Amino acid sequence: MVQLETLPDSGEVQNYVGGSWHTPESDEGRDVINPATTERLAHVSFSSEHDIDRAVETATEAFEDWSARPVEDRIQPLFELKQLLEEHQNELAEIVAQEHGKTVDEAAGEIRRGIENVEVACGIPTMMQGGTLLNAAPEIDESAVRKPLGVFTAITPFNFPAMIPLWFLPYAVATGNSFILKPSEQDPLVAQRMFELIDQAGFPDGVVQLVNGGVDTVNSLLDHDEIVGASFVGSTPVAKTIYERAAQNGKRVQAQGGAKNHIIVTETADLDFAAEKTVGSAFACAGERCLANDVVVVEDSVYDEFVEKVVDTAKAQTVGYGLEDETDIGALISAEHEQRVREIIETGLEEGADLLLDGRDVTVDGYEDGNFLGPTLFGDVEPEMTISQEEIFGPVLGLMAVESVDDAINVLNRSDFGNAASLFTGKGADARKFRHQTDIGNLGVNAGTAAPMAFFHFGGRKESFFGDLHAQGEDMIHFYTDKTIYIERWPDA
Ligand code: NAD
Repeated sequence: MVQLETLPDSGEVQNYVGGSWHTPESDEGRDVINPATTERLAHVSFSSEHDIDRAVETATEAFEDWSARPVEDRIQPLFELKQLLEEHQNELAEIVAQEHGKTVDEAAGEIRRGIENVEVACGIPTMMQGGTLLNAAPEIDESAVRKPLGVFTAITPFNFPAMIPLWFLPYAVATGNSFILKPSEQDPLVAQRMFELIDQAGFPDGVVQLVNGGVDTVNSLLDHDEIVGASFVGSTPVAKTIYERAAQNGKRVQAQGGAKNHIIVTETADLDFAAEKTVGSAFACAGERCLANDVVVVEDSVYDEFVEKVVDTAKAQTVGYGLEDETDIGALISAEHEQRVREIIETGLEEGADLLLDGRDVTVDGYEDGNFLGPTLFGDVEPEMTISQEEIFGPVLGLMAVESVDDAINVLNRSDFGNAASLFTGKGADARKFRHQTDIGNLGVNAGTAAPMAFFHFGGRKESFFGDLHAQGEDMIHFYTDKTIYIERWPDA
């Protein structure tokens, strides 16, 4: 049972606006369910247009004073927040495990990754500097200075409910903006707990706010005149809609979408290492990661040997409740999503892939109604099959044989998505080809999951990303500021 100080007995998830807690007003809403136990954890009512107006108004007022404060003052609450997140890391991880279904270790990892972004944003006094050129023209010095812009929002997905809000929030406020988070309605409790910590961190009221809701709430944010920019992370169809709507309304926007990620295994790779990393990449967080690799393209000279190793490693994975120590693969977010993944497995069978390991019959003692699927492996996968092309977002991995590394790169380049890919090889020339000839945002060589540290941006191309400036790192400074040119002439009269 998740217990939060600010969650009332009614279990109504709260907004945090103007430094205090409020129940969202609209009649629309949904229950928050533990996907392993099916226990109802809370209820989230969606924010109405009026709720959004109030949040934006408060954020707009707060911006005036906050943006004028010395940058050193603006980062003090972030140092405090880093400390608080670290002190409460285990508790936050347990909340994520309960409302999302992933294991506590995976959840602790995502919180660590989130904290990294707070740390990077504490370097804003250096990162936000502009540039000056003396004697740009006779008696003229010229500078470009970075300025914050106003109220920003971020709309985030269910799969990393603690980390993804922190891809944005610390940078938005460190640069002097105010910020409104709209987390996923499927697992909003960890955001509420993080906002309890934000409340203690010492931000002035109105600088950082939380609003809960669904589609209408998002549209109210995107249509609001006083919001200057929006960040989105979620599925591709929604990312496209958000990108278009925000741009039409004249806002800055960055929208990260879904993915279909591949691993290439060449004949010179360390096959044991590659098999271990492949299984980790495909099945961590039950495959519900935008960086999960769910197709492996293998040079045919080592295909059979590699398949055997992957099957053995995958079979050893334990499916269970994320709060229990022995669990490797936790529950999927919802019964609807589990059903969707089951349908994709059926499609794989109908399209002729060879089912090497079937996770559909898994049951977890004590949690028989939970949304569980075991690791599922398909061999003899072809590039045109649905399981090769569509994002699955579940514990399903396909293996495909190709004649050469060139053929493997062709398979990757035929994908509509460009989020991530990994290559396992012992040959530098393969790695070079992989780097030069693919159009993908995050590449890993002999690394299973190409997840960038917070001081780098999070890549993404093609249908995986709409915009130009990405989440995390220096891109965020550019997204959250604009440059003013300042030209000075002081003749020595
Ligand atoms: P989703 O698109 O269903 O929802 C994401 C957010 O958008 C939620 O806050 C939701 O309330 C809101 N939303 C949903 N439908 C909407 C609509 N029609 N109009 C406006 N807002 C809407 O995504 P999800 O299921 O929560 O997350 C999983 C997806 O996110 C996967 O496709 C995954 O690949 C992607 N993802 C991408 C990245 C990345 O960096 N590219 C990272 C994590 C997750």
